[in-house]
Amino acid sequence: MVQDKFDYIIIGAGAAGLMLATAMDQDPFFASNRILLLEKQTTRSNDRTWSYWEKGSGPYDSLLTRQWEEIKFKGVNQVLIKNIQPYSYKTLRGQDFYSFHYQNLEESNIVTLRHEAVLSIEESENFVAVRTTAQTYSGSYVFNSLFTPPSPKEQKKYPLIQQHFVGWFIRADKPIFQENVATFMDFSLPQKSNTRFMYVLPFSENEGLVEYTLFSKDLLEVSEKFLKKKKVVFP
Ligand SMILES: Cc1cc2nc3c(=O)[nH]c(=O)nc-3n(C[C@H](O)[C@H](O)[C@H](O)COP(=O)(O)OP(=O)(O)OC[C@H]3O[C@@H](n4cnc5c(N)ncnc54)[C@H](O)[C@@H]3O)c2cc1C
Repeated sequence: MVQDKFDYIIIGAGAAGLMLATAMDQDPFFASNRILLLEKQTTRSNDRTWSYWEKGSGPYDSLLTRQWEEIKFKGVNQVLIKNIQPYSYKTLRGQDFYSFHYQNLEESNIVTLRHEAVLSIEESENFVAVRTTAQTYSGSYVFNSLFTPPSPKEQKKYPLIQQHFVGWFIRADKPIFQENVATFMDFSLPQKSNTRFMYVLPFSENEGLVEYTLFSKDLLEVSEKFLKKKKVVFP
């Protein structure tokens, strides 16, 4: 049974849902509307670190962990450091992004955030019914950011490659990073018949995020992705 009616229902308070809800909240066009934002997670962890290019300043500058104008590419025999101004490469903690948007939306007169998991979406001619773990809502429009495509593994037309990312936040007791230079791609490591590179975001001379990426047809066992040694000693 439909219990509560909204003009717009946004499913998922992730990157897309939070930016959309905030943009609608700030746009006078929607001032007389009711907007519902549904998110299944009741607490938000720092589940990812976002990095992106931007020309000049942007809306998340006050939240950035760090930004760089110097970018390094490395091969076995060559190192290239490029200045990318007027662009810069910016890094943002997921948790800071979520907190920023949640705080703004708490003050909203038109957006209601509810922590409920969506179970089904049913479209009829004039409205959409969204059933959650708590109740059913109706909306004139629904924006759905849940990602539920058929598995790419099921198609045979194109070769499938999967990207592995494994990363560590490192703190060393002496300077090991070139603080002003982000390493985009360091291919100087063994390629082992596919494509592999390191990615390094230095936050200071002795702290940074170090990631290892490789592409392969089948996913590696989780145990293969983690360091066997607990302590890493830098020369
Ligand atoms: C570790 C990691 C690092 C990344 N780094 C980068 C990067 O550096 N740069 C970059 O551009 N991209 C990066 N990405 C990709 C980027 O995070 C995604 O492209 C982006 O988050 C997609 O936005 P979205 O809103 O569609 O989905 P999400 O941000 O995943 O949001 C979906 C939301 O829906 C909620 N949800 C799921 N199921 C339900 C349900 N049944 N009911 C209600 N809510 C539900 C989820 O809890 C989540 O909050 C990274 C991703 C990961 C995982």
